[in-house]
Amino acid sequence: MLSAISPQPFVCRSPLLPGESLYSLLTRLAALNRHTPPTIINLCFHAPSAKFNSQHLLDIPERPFKATTYDRLAIFTGLAPTDLYAATPHRYSRVVMPPYQSPLEISLTGHAPVALCTVRGANRELRGVNQAQFCPACLKEAAYHRLIWSMNAVSVCLQHQCLLVGRCPQCRQNISVRAVVQGHCLHCAADLTLAPTRSIRDDTFGRFAQRTLLAWLEGQAPRGEWATALPPHPAPLLFHFIRKVRHLLLRNLDSQALLNLPRRYSRSRVGDTLPEAQYELTQLAMRAIVKWPRNFIEFKRALRNATLFENSPLKQWVADYSTHLSTWWGPYWKNQGLAFVCEVHDPDAEAPGRRPTVNKTA
Ligand SMILES: [Zn+2]
Ligand SMILES: [Zn+2]
Repeated sequence: MLSAISPQPFVCRSPLLPGESLYSLLTRLAALNRHTPPTIINLCFHAPSAKFNSQHLLDIPERPFKATTYDRLAIFTGLAPTDLYAATPHRYSRVVMPPYQSPLEISLTGHAPVALCTVRGANRELRGVNQAQFCPACLKEAAYHRLIWSMNAVSVCLQHQCLLVGRCPQCRQNISVRAVVQGHCLHCAADLTLAPTRSIRDDTFGRFAQRTLLAWLEGQAPRGEWATALPPHPAPLLFHFIRKVRHLLLRNLDSQALLNLPRRYSRSRVGDTLPEAQYELTQLAMRAIVKWPRNFIEFKRALRNATLFENSPLKQWVADYSTHLSTWWGPYWKNQGLAFVCEVHDPDAEAPGRRPTVNKTA
């Protein structure tokens, strides 16, 4: 069995900055201690005898799964294991994990069990360390990676009221957490604090949708004009519904056309990482769930009539409205642990087995 070297405290330490992710902290500590990031990952997560290779990692650096890893990181960093855990996306696992999956838990030394985001349950919700998104204005204030940017569902900075940026503004390549911490693209050296972004100042509903997702993730009650019009289900169910609507709608879009990426990329997976697409999809999903179930029936009618994206900036990317259309009326929702969706009496529902008719757009 692989085992790591015995941990020694870093010479130069730093506390976690407000809202900072664990991987950002490790990247900053690497710079402070004059390590290159692979070396610090090697120290913290890698078996000393093995050739450096991701196959030989003892745990996942941005969201460790083992209690012993948090103990080791506590010695390296001088920070409490619970604080290190709270800097990982695992802290959102109660909401992020699908409702049909039982939570995986570990016990941090001397503390009650904490829940984990499993790889399978959360893989389309979490961005990898080489697929970061960021707010240029936040980076200008302090160059580090905020944990909340790890979530694909989160696509705005509410403080600066702008969309997040998911790619280098100059070369269009992915941005890593390391690039965010350094404040410039590692491919073309573009200054990330100067990346142009879209204001959401005038988009009241868009801001409500994002604020609601954040409230659910942080275990708070949503607030705002439409909050009382949400169905009375627990946050994990509503979050899961929004996620599934986003995933289904992505199948209708050609997000590669926007990015100009080669066809080898999976269409929906590219769309997962586009803040501009996620922002609009989240709004459509949130509009479907407020004033439940009336808006949801309207939403499905608009899908079937190929008018759903009519007033959305996503309209130009719609590739095919008919893709998986019958899913919306099928047993899909029950299988997703969302039986309340199937319980809606839909006057437009088709006879079992009959595919809804579609007016295809030109
Ligand atoms: Zn910001
Ligand atoms: Zn670049």
